[in-house]
Amino acid sequence: MHRPRKRFGQNFLVDASTIEHLINAINPRSADHFIEIGPGLGALTKPLLARVNALEVIEIDRDLIGHLQNIQNQGHQLTIHTMDVLNFDFSKTNTPHRVVGNLPYNISTPVIFHLLAFLDDIVDMYFMLQKEVVERICAQSGDRNFGRLSVMVQAKCSATNLFEITADKFDPPPKVTSAFIHLTPHPQPLLEKQWEPRFDEVVRHAFSQPRKTLANNLKKLFTGQQIESLEIDPAIRPQNIRIDELIRLAKA
Ligand code: SAM
Repeated sequence: MHRPRKRFGQNFLVDASTIEHLINAINPRSADHFIEIGPGLGALTKPLLARVNALEVIEIDRDLIGHLQNIQNQGHQLTIHTMDVLNFDFSKTNTPHRVVGNLPYNISTPVIFHLLAFLDDIVDMYFMLQKEVVERICAQSGDRNFGRLSVMVQAKCSATNLFEITADKFDPPPKVTSAFIHLTPHPQPLLEKQWEPRFDEVVRHAFSQPRKTLANNLKKLFTGQQIESLEIDPAIRPQNIRIDELIRLAKA
């Protein structure tokens, strides 16, 4: 018996029909190369292995490796990386790949930011996250929860909130409702690589104080006049700016 560890965000999926729903949404094809983040006790790993030829998993908790080796010993082509996903180099493995995971909620945002650096090697991603995080990622300009996370993800990927999963489908149940999200890197990047550091800086400043105006948040980088000359209203709140306007600012 494995005792779930809170510090590793261990809420294991236990509901068979939910697991089937997730796998059907992912729609694995035998030749796809998958990487699963946080396989845990194998709730998604086993049904994935039933459909694909080979799978790599990244798991930080050494106590779970025995469970994963048992799956491996059943003749499956399973590669186990025992490490922190935040140190995993997604470009060093068989590429291109599809990435999936019921992510540990305490580090879900850093995991997504880490993956954004490897999109050249990624076909698509499916994640179970806290519902509010999925809503923030998918929020549109003008929405209450539109912010840095929405912009940084949507500048590089299209994001779809697929469906919600209630807490009773996990053991132990998390304190929050979850949602399943699909992220697909844009085939044509909205922003060329050379502008990324500048874009990052502009976005950080723009959303630093959500209740202040754009001009106030950007005052270390631009005057109000400079913002206006780019045909952007300096008096708007950051939640009302659009991604194409932030790109314009980054390139200015
Ligand atoms: N996939 C399993 C499931 O759906 O039942 C487990 C999901 S559980 C929410 C998150 C998993 O991620 C756990 O197995 C946990 O040990 C693992 N994990 C937590 N932090 C991690 C990290 N930094 N790197 C890799 N795995 C991590």
